[in-house]
Amino acid sequence: MQYLSTRGHPERRRFCEILLEGLAPDGGLYLPERYPRIDEVTLARWRTLAYADLAFEILSLYIDDIPADDLRALCRKTYRAEVFGSAAIAPLRGLESGVYLEGLSNGPTLAFKDMAMQLLGNLFEYELARRGEALNILGATSGDTGSAAEYAMRGKKGVRVFMLSPDGRMSPFQKAQMFSLQDANIHNLAVRGVFDDCQDIVKAVSADAAFKRKYRIGTVNSINWARLMAQVVYYFAGYIQATRSNAERVSFSVPSGNFGNVCAGHVARMMGLPIERLVVATNENDVLDEFFRTGVYRVRASADTHETSSPSMDISKASNFERFVFDLLGRDGARTQSLFGAQLMAQGRFDLSADPVFAQAAQRYGFVSGKSTHAERLATIRDTFSRFGVMIDTHTADGLKVGREHLKPGTPMIVLETALPIKFAQTIVEALGREPERPAGFEGIESLPRRVQVIDADADRVKAYIAEHCA
Ligand SMILES: *Cc1c(COP(=O)(O)O)cnc(C)c1O
Repeated sequence: MQYLSTRGHPERRRFCEILLEGLAPDGGLYLPERYPRIDEVTLARWRTLAYADLAFEILSLYIDDIPADDLRALCRKTYRAEVFGSAAIAPLRGLESGVYLEGLSNGPTLAFKDMAMQLLGNLFEYELARRGEALNILGATSGDTGSAAEYAMRGKKGVRVFMLSPDGRMSPFQKAQMFSLQDANIHNLAVRGVFDDCQDIVKAVSADAAFKRKYRIGTVNSINWARLMAQVVYYFAGYIQATRSNAERVSFSVPSGNFGNVCAGHVARMMGLPIERLVVATNENDVLDEFFRTGVYRVRASADTHETSSPSMDISKASNFERFVFDLLGRDGARTQSLFGAQLMAQGRFDLSADPVFAQAAQRYGFVSGKSTHAERLATIRDTFSRFGVMIDTHTADGLKVGREHLKPGTPMIVLETALPIKFAQTIVEALGREPERPAGFEGIESLPRRVQVIDADADRVKAYIAEHCA
């Protein structure tokens, strides 16, 4: 399988070449040059597989430069009951008739990002050892991504993580999760500033090509194809659990921010998984809902990006959205380049409302959308707890609320559970008047010893820290 850029660059790459990279050379995102189609017989055979083996089957369609036995071993090492809490890995739970929650947040950091990041940690370690290389991952986080990356990379040979977070701004639980890691290859840097300062530092350090080369700086952000590909697996696993025969169709509702999660659903659908609708659920930051309703994609300024009670969806632009638009435009790289390169840069928006392709987003690709506000989030959490005794987190509540607006009789709706309520305790208390349950193993993590360095919001200071710790 060869990979191409969404912006039309002529070069083609293999999987292990793009694994450790970010953007393509022309600023585009990598995609496979075609989506493998799964036939009836194959899908029927996959029904009996354990999650790790299902992951191997799907991944091996996209990865042909890792020997099959090695790839299978990496999948089995990653998707184990001890890591993800159950043999099902992504278990389905029923709510009212025809509505399910698919549990994607039973990994080490209790959010769905573990599903892909745990595999990425093992792939990185494997590929770096094969090349005899090392990598220093530099990232900025306001919560879920940073902790998922640290738990995936902890103790991995050849990898160091330098994670910037805004000092004092993460939830007590998130701080405890990240800062209590004692592994020598994990470095927490609490920056005196806000999340944007952290991101600016990452950009400034990465823009210094000589420093970047010398210290082998890499990233694990959500545009990484390997992360997206790993997420395709749980769409298949959810479908298999919700149906008995391949004649049945299901819909998925996905709490969305950077469009990484639901883009994996799009890939699964392109592979032939019988998905009826892909429901894009947003919070008050409704960039994506606006596009799917109107055809206008309008990036928000920082000042227009709201801080909400589903903070992992607080985005100003959706960094993976370009992948879907590329497909929507019939894989026209030049046109994708003009929309995402030129027009977004100059005008902060583009408008496909008058273009016949816009109607295809719903008709041909199954996309619909909706949004959920703080009050609706609280109401959904309350209603789900009182009717079913199930406590859901704020992001999952957005998915459930919007998913219900797109129910079709006879078609199950699978809502992706993207985090556990304990991560967002304050809002759960506001909704239910009680503290969320704490999973086993997380008792008292707030009082564990911490490893964190508080530093000024200064790229040179961060560079000096990296240099000191890359002996
Ligand atoms: C990251 C995240 C999301 C958004 O996922 P995208 O892939 O960015 O759309 C939703 N919910 C939770 C809990 C997250 O951590």
